[in-house]
Amino acid sequence: MSSRSSPFIISLPKAELHLHLEGAIDPETLLELWHRHGRHGSPSEVEQLYRYADFNGFLMAFKAITEHLQTSEDYELVTYRLAEKLKAENVLHAEVYVSVGVCLWRKQEFDVIFEALERGRERGQRDFGVSLLWIFDAVRQFGVDAARNVFELAARYRDRHVVGIGIGGDEQKAPAELFRDAYAYAADQGLRLTAHAGETAGPESIWGALNLRAERIGHGLTAYQDPELVEELATRQIPMEICITSNLRTGCCPDLLDHPVRRYFDQGLMVTLNTDDPAMFRTSLSHEYQLARESFTFTDEHLRELARNSFEASFLPAEKKLNFLNLFDATAVRP
Ligand SMILES: [Zn+2]
Repeated sequence: MSSRSSPFIISLPKAELHLHLEGAIDPETLLELWHRHGRHGSPSEVEQLYRYADFNGFLMAFKAITEHLQTSEDYELVTYRLAEKLKAENVLHAEVYVSVGVCLWRKQEFDVIFEALERGRERGQRDFGVSLLWIFDAVRQFGVDAARNVFELAARYRDRHVVGIGIGGDEQKAPAELFRDAYAYAADQGLRLTAHAGETAGPESIWGALNLRAERIGHGLTAYQDPELVEELATRQIPMEICITSNLRTGCCPDLLDHPVRRYFDQGLMVTLNTDDPAMFRTSLSHEYQLARESFTFTDEHLRELARNSFEASFLPAEKKLNFLNLFDATAVRP
């Protein structure tokens, strides 16, 4: 991280809407998992796992790190650590993607994992006061049937803090249209819908996500290429889960100054800032706000608006959302 975040940014109450549990496992915790499982290694060996050159390399690194989550206790630990980290950033609420698609592909016993996730969440809530909700994420390139299995599990646990579903992975290999029936099923089950879209593919992929009735767009990096799409996103106030550092590190956006975040804000889109995979991208939510201020001339008043958006765009039930917004309005300092 290039610079220290300002006290104003740290003090802003924030929510995070695009955050992968597995991508939040920091190298220290991973080393701890190694030791748990009787594997010896040095911090520099662990660091190797966090290196990649492009988007595909990143997907491989994500998979390699996830493979070190072996027991239910591992899932509980990384969830608890995540809550601890969020607290330090003054993140009051987070909607956390779990790569359930990867768990099923690894033939893990998901019911046992889910109990551990819930234990981690409860302990995190109790010790750090951080609210977490789960979003079950399917992997596009694993196909429609695999996604449907993920969404059925989300429906099964809907009353236990599972708020929605999403798809991530390779947009080129598996366009949104394939998942139409699976998304319709999830909506029927009362789940909220989001989708990674326009990260590695063009605006047509974002249109595809909107056609799935996705309520938020993960990344939406390429929306700016289609003015009609930008107008649609602005009119409907579809929240954009923007992840600036992620887009740079994966090479999806080669140059920081080409990132459309500021353009989207000026065009009236509902922008939220997120870390995506904070440990893998060596970022934090405060750092993303700092980056917005330093590189895109967002004022503190703008940042306050973005932080408020993060609660507004959450999938929290209406009453809880209102509580958070009231708390925000009462406690967020006016610059
Ligand atoms: Zn993501």
